[in-house]
Amino acid sequence: MKKILIVEDESAIADTLIYILEAEGFEVSWVMLGSVAIDFIAKRDFDLVILDVGLPDMNGFEVCKIIRLTNQLPIIFLTARGEEIDRIVGLEIGGDDYVTKPFSPREVAARVKTILKRVTPAISNDVDPTILSRAPSGCDFILMGQALALTAIEFKLLNHLYSQPHLVFSREQLLQACGQFCDIGYERNIDTHIKTIRNKIKKHDATLQVIKTHRGFGYGFGLKQ
Ligand code: CA
Repeated sequence: MKKILIVEDESAIADTLIYILEAEGFEVSWVMLGSVAIDFIAKRDFDLVILDVGLPDMNGFEVCKIIRLTNQLPIIFLTARGEEIDRIVGLEIGGDDYVTKPFSPREVAARVKTILKRVTPAISNDVDPTILSRAPSGCDFILMGQALALTAIEFKLLNHLYSQPHLVFSREQLLQACGQFCDIGYERNIDTHIKTIRNKIKKHDATLQVIKTHRGFGYGFGLKQ
């Protein structure tokens, strides 16, 4: 279920948005202050933010700029007529879209769906053997007919993800799967290995993705062409 955060100080507006977005199957959270929104986004995962420009504590543009320092999630602005639409449209502020008040909640819901479709890549957990398969030697992978030349630990890592394509693993679990001890800095170790595997894949196909990052959890298999 996609999670949406509404940042809006007028409860009547928030209510209509919550109503329609929940009816569309989204999980909706609502806050009234920009500072609270920034805090929420830092602590929880959202898929999209609907951000009012005129908030009691901060300007929505400032909120967006702060969010953008660490997060690229889609942001739709709610603006009153005459607010700085040109700046939003020019993406100077980092918004993805805007809706002018008064708006139709249906229109907002439609925009939310369009944006989420645009940013959510079509990732398949199914392993297509013509793209990626285990090498006959049993210690490397073949990507579209060519060996990836993985090191032993890289092979174990990718093999673990590949063998259970529907699961997400923490860094600790992955390290254990590779037979390594969870020493200080192990998280960074895993990240480095994952990066190297991705670079080796990139050499064969610049756009192909095989390992998916699950923010706040770890890694899983995810084929994206
Ligand atoms: Ca407002």
